[in-house]
Amino acid sequence: MLFDAHTHLNEERYTDEERAELAREIEQSPVDYILDAGSCFSDTEQAVKDAERYPWCYASAGLHPEEVGGMTEEKMQYLKELALHDKVRAVGEIGLDYYYDDGVPREEQRKWFRRQIQLANELKMPIMIHSRDADLDTLTILKEEGAFSEERKSWFPRRPVDKTRWPYIKGILHLGDEAGAAADDDEAIMLPDARVLMHCFSYSAETALEYVRLGGTISICGPVTFKSNKKTRRVVENIPIDFLTVETDAPYLAPEPMRGRPNKSPYVEYTCRKVAEIKGITYEEAAAVTKQNAMRFYGIIGC
Ligand SMILES: [Zn+2]
Repeated sequence: MLFDAHTHLNEERYTDEERAELAREIEQSPVDYILDAGSCFSDTEQAVKDAERYPWCYASAGLHPEEVGGMTEEKMQYLKELALHDKVRAVGEIGLDYYYDDGVPREEQRKWFRRQIQLANELKMPIMIHSRDADLDTLTILKEEGAFSEERKSWFPRRPVDKTRWPYIKGILHLGDEAGAAADDDEAIMLPDARVLMHCFSYSAETALEYVRLGGTISICGPVTFKSNKKTRRVVENIPIDFLTVETDAPYLAPEPMRGRPNKSPYVEYTCRKVAEIKGITYEEAAAVTKQNAMRFYGIIGC
């Protein structure tokens, strides 16, 4: 019923027993799939192990911007080997994080962000982005490295959007009729998909719209449930559900009413319920559409 589009079952703080217990909880919950996101080499290796062990688990391979200190071209080669694993379905989480003044120097973050986008392009793989306090540089680098290029979009199946929502989507995205082609079954309009996912989106609705116009996907995380967070609620209001996924980013950022506790994948239900409430649709519909979106994004269906 649900797809947790970005989580860290691989988190190094877990013992093997704790990880196995979390897996059991996922199996007993409405969560059908998770994407176990890599953020450094040891996390990515663990994510690959998790994905080999559990049929409902897929992985990504990548270095988080705070993990790129000491990165080398030889290590890039190893990252490529990890990314080539059959159950690794994205390069990520990669990006920029300008939150800490004493973190990895920004110049270095930008360099390895570019190299990892280049790797994703070389392997024709989806890209999963982490971006904090760096909206302008993130967008500029993604564009400069061809993450939204016509060539890249040609590698992936188009994104179906529900025909009943097409007039609204056309308007909000400033698209002409020529932007969408009718699907064979005539139930959907097909739009180009760059397979770029903005994980735990924390920027404005305007920025979200810009990504969606370029062919990106917006992933909504637990903070959307926080009372004070009007910004992310506006994102959900403004972005058609055809472009949204839901995620936990566990063990961080637990949604209300679990805020303050260690987060885990089954809590993605609270985030999905909030998305449904904001959109004025049923929880079942929000769960079904966001699950389909994530399955398509990670190439589990439709390719
Ligand atoms: Zn994460």
